[in-house]
Amino acid sequence: MPLIRDGNLALDQWVHRGDDEPLADGPTIVSLDRWKRDRAALLTRNAPLGLRLKSDQAPAQVAADLGHFSVVALEFPTFKDGRPFSYAKLLRDRYGYKGEVRAFGHILRDQYLFLDRLGVNSIEVKDEKQLREWKTALGEFSVFYQPGVDARRPAMALRRQVASALKPSRPDFDDLTRVADVPPPADAPPAPSPARIAVADAKVRAFSHKYGHLSAPKLIAAMIDVEFKGNIALVSSFGTEAAVLLHMVSEIDRNLPVLFLDTQKLFGETLRYRDQLVGQLGLSNVQTIRPDAERVKELDPNGMLFSRRANLCCQIRKVEPLERALHPYDAWITGRKRYQGRRRAVLPVIEAAGGRVKINPLAGWSKDLLDEYFLEHGLPHHPLEAEGFLSIGCMPCTDRVAPGEDMRAGRWRGQDKDECGIHETPAAQSLTSSGL
Ligand code: SF4
Repeated sequence: MPLIRDGNLALDQWVHRGDDEPLADGPTIVSLDRWKRDRAALLTRNAPLGLRLKSDQAPAQVAADLGHFSVVALEFPTFKDGRPFSYAKLLRDRYGYKGEVRAFGHILRDQYLFLDRLGVNSIEVKDEKQLREWKTALGEFSVFYQPGVDARRPAMALRRQVASALKPSRPDFDDLTRVADVPPPADAPPAPSPARIAVADAKVRAFSHKYGHLSAPKLIAAMIDVEFKGNIALVSSFGTEAAVLLHMVSEIDRNLPVLFLDTQKLFGETLRYRDQLVGQLGLSNVQTIRPDAERVKELDPNGMLFSRRANLCCQIRKVEPLERALHPYDAWITGRKRYQGRRRAVLPVIEAAGGRVKINPLAGWSKDLLDEYFLEHGLPHHPLEAEGFLSIGCMPCTDRVAPGEDMRAGRWRGQDKDECGIHETPAAQSLTSSGL
């Protein structure tokens, strides 16, 4: 197994052995169960010994024996299981363990920094490619998973706080209407005039007849090159399926404005994936939109608003910045699809929203069609997709999706919320829509 040790690529001299496998001649890592069962025999070996701990096997079970092991290998069974992080800290702080602590299993690249901060020396990685990627990752982290030497709150603490905030007994848990409690920012764009709304409405009706027969790429081309030349933008999350629409747009106009909302709560993987796609597709006008710093300072000073009033958090981190960014445009393109379910199941291809025309060229696309498009055009997948994240938004509000679950089931899991609001605000409601 390739290994990254103390920030460097390393050859792994150690081998893992199962409970009933013959022991290797050299350095060997065995399970806690095997250690308990074969302790006497293992102590007579003339080769270094390592111990493997599962996430439900705390180091306390073997604290008195730690001196016998040159390596303690901590298994991470899932991304969300934080216990091995605690074990690493305990090994160093409480038990004064001086040997090598290694990590293996489901570990995200964003966790590397924190493993390092907790005294983990080495991480087993899948292959050479993953090893090279991780080697370049140390300076790129935006998500924190465990308490370390600084005061930044880790992801798991944030998740626990979310779970606690979701208890029905909490009186301050927000609902959709409570966004209205907070006045809009002073510089909010004006609401669309009735005349503007009527124009957008009429365009949607006309486009239904004129472009209803077109494929997604041809519809996009008609909107970009003919109907809204210089006056239309694509809004992309750079999520799991975003590459399809971005590729189509790159074939038509690489300089089309692509608006990317960086809520400052995103996964580092999403930011890196954005950079990868921008490079691969040659997109030359990707604009990263961020929340207004004063607004965040006023309403979310400790960055925990998502745990109490998720809708307000989405309002200041997504809805308001996007409304500002879209202000110069008469139309925008989104990547939503009907197969994503819930409110999207009835998604039109063209709709009027807040005095603008909104184009959803992939509304009728299936997952199979999207997969074929990725293959046909050699598009890279979002790195978290392989980890079970099928719809990816902000880190604190995104969870893995279990087999058989709705692909957006991991978004705001457990909350009565399935959209961030950029498609749901009163100003964005459709007056007219066309399913084409
Ligand atoms: S998805 Fe979560 S963290 Fe992101 S803006 Fe909405 S509530 Fe805040």
